[in-house]
Amino acid sequence: CGIVGYIGKQSAAPIILEGLRRLEYRGYDSAGMSVLNGHGLEVRKKKGKIEEGLGKLLKTNLLLGQVGVGHTRWATHGEPSDENSHPHFDHSGKISVVHNGVVENYDRLKDRHLKAGHTFQSSTDTEVLAHLIGEHYERIKRCETEQATQNGDGLHPLTKAVTEALREVIGTYGIAVICADYPEVIVGARRGSPLIVGIGDGEHFLASDATAIALHTRQVIYLNDYDVVTLRADRFAVTSLGSDIARVQISQLEFSP
Ligand code: GLU
Repeated sequence: CGIVGYIGKQSAAPIILEGLRRLEYRGYDSAGMSVLNGHGLEVRKKKGKIEEGLGKLLKTNLLLGQVGVGHTRWATHGEPSDENSHPHFDHSGKISVVHNGVVENYDRLKDRHLKAGHTFQSSTDTEVLAHLIGEHYERIKRCETEQATQNGDGLHPLTKAVTEALREVIGTYGIAVICADYPEVIVGARRGSPLIVGIGDGEHFLASDATAIALHTRQVIYLNDYDVVTLRADRFAVTSLGSDIARVQISQLEFSP
């Protein structure tokens, strides 16, 4: 239902939590976030209202780090529960995904992963998407080490993995993805579900709705369907699933936060 991501020099968790609160009006049944803390991924997620669930968890159990993604969930596949709350992880536990929308072909993909020996922690379509990204990521990493001397197409390995995974997905998505191997990037993508990039000074934001980030920046990019964005603290790049060229237009937010 709601997505917020942050990468920059500030502490990510308070910014993401505030952004998620601003999306509460859209409705949700659970909330969670993952932060890269310098050693790896840390996650907090909980069924129920932000104030009583995620908010409380974060007060007693701080999340420190300058890169993170958060989500408010409105369940479509799997009942509202702590386990089914986002973020979800791939098989290795290194990749964390938040997702709005529905992966329609998740059962076929899940079968494939089960046959490959994967286990699942939830009954969501989103966890299947996380495993799919992880599967492509591992293959890309293997190829990279085999062809270490050759130059690839210049795409970040996480961007490549997300792009190739999404080529297999039937359905709708707005997603934000982080990976413990690459604490300097967030990858986002959309099809049929809104996703906005917020441009800051040495920091970037990702959100499903401008309300979540309007406090921090007025400069935004409304991503188009099939866009994939690679965000770093000081720059970003938009590529496209559908064609070679992605059209990027920077807009100015006009309403007050
Ligand atoms: N289909 C996903 C789930 O049920 C995402 C739902 C949403 O958009 O919040 O977990």
